Amino acid sequence: MSIVPDHLLRAIDRRRDDLIDLTRQLVRIPTTNPPGDAYRECSEWIGQRLGAAGFEVEYVRGTGSPGDSDQYPRINVIARKRLSRPGPCVHFNGHIDVVEPGRGWRFDPFAGEVYNGRIYGRGTADMKAGLAAAIIAAETLCELAPELGGTIEISGTVDEESGGYGGVAYLAERGYFSPDRVQHVIIPEPLNVDRVCIGHRGVWWAEIETHGRIAHGSMPFLGDSAIRHMGAVLERLEHDLLPRLAGRETAMPVVPPAARHSTLNINSIHGGPNEGHAGLPAPCVVDSCRIVVDRRFLIEESLASVKGEVTALLEDLVRQRAGFSYHLRDLFEVLPTMTDPNSPVVRATRAAIESILGREADIICSPGTYDQKHIDRIGRLHDCIAYGPGILDLAHQPDEYVDIDDLVNSAKVMTQATYQLLCGQA
Ligand SMILES: [Zn+2]
Repeated sequence: MSIVPDHLLRAIDRRRDDLIDLTRQLVRIPTTNPPGDAYRECSEWIGQRLGAAGFEVEYVRGTGSPGDSDQYPRINVIARKRLSRPGPCVHFNGHIDVVEPGRGWRFDPFAGEVYNGRIYGRGTADMKAGLAAAIIAAETLCELAPELGGTIEISGTVDEESGGYGGVAYLAERGYFSPDRVQHVIIPEPLNVDRVCIGHRGVWWAEIETHGRIAHGSMPFLGDSAIRHMGAVLERLEHDLLPRLAGRETAMPVVPPAARHSTLNINSIHGGPNEGHAGLPAPCVVDSCRIVVDRRFLIEESLASVKGEVTALLEDLVRQRAGFSYHLRDLFEVLPTMTDPNSPVVRATRAAIESILGREADIICSPGTYDQKHIDRIGRLHDCIAYGPGILDLAHQPDEYVDIDDLVNSAKVMTQATYQLLCGQA
């Protein structure tokens, strides 16, 4: 079923070079996070582009958010275009920050080189191509679909790669994603041109510290090793908790399928004195050892039960192991979220994928989180998905690229889905 007038899709084809150019321009602004380089330049570039297309443009600095300083201001841009009459608002939200390039590139990571039908560079997939596709879709609709009512918004936001606190969370706290202002949100993260991402698993990060008693390493019997106590914790995780987690499966359509289970990663381990400059540490029985665990949980699990089973394991060790004591510290938590697969934005995007690509759309969930968490929990706006060109596996890798045909097709899908949502026909 295609309800979008054909001339709009043909207009996207005619704007193919503009779309490529726009992606390359965005990639050439090196918005590396950390530290949060060139945010102002990138936001202003987007603002000027959309301002010229008749959007009202606003800049919001995430003042006081992590990393915000006069040298690295957290500048977000929000562009808003009211169409000929009142109606719903469709909002595209793209993060402008990228992770550092890292090593191993064949291409200049900040040149946006075009080679073999692809644009290469840091942030092509994650997610400047998606943002460029949204801009082209929005401009096309504003210019060539005067029959539409409602509002189209595009935001370029900062710091998604570091939690989104100066970006989407900051805007959501100030009402930019409240349901009386915005009704439908599409986040053009690189989930691939034929997939609609409706949510993600939950996250709990915690630090576990075991305690001991310091003594000379030549007489370990006089002390109590925090590292050996941590060894007991690791043993329990390995043989007790991890197998139980692997046995739990979610009904959420998480990709890859191996991520449909609960997982726990031991993110770091620290214990003992540092090796000195001569390469030899002081001989000590150490009194502290710490690990950080990264627990990803399912929508069927509660955060309380997730924390409770780790606490139970540690309390068990307190009872069974002489001298064992610990401290558990919460670091970070995000609840799982999943948009109703029958909600308007999912239905419209799915229908658009099917009519433009001629194949069925996959409805998926992401193994990790993204800015939907803030829109959902702070903004209380639930009609939200991630949809955009690019392959998720390439994100943060060397030689990251976006396929140009996928890029153009994703702009068509965004055009049709937005058209349908603004017509109120989704
Ligand atoms: Zn991203």
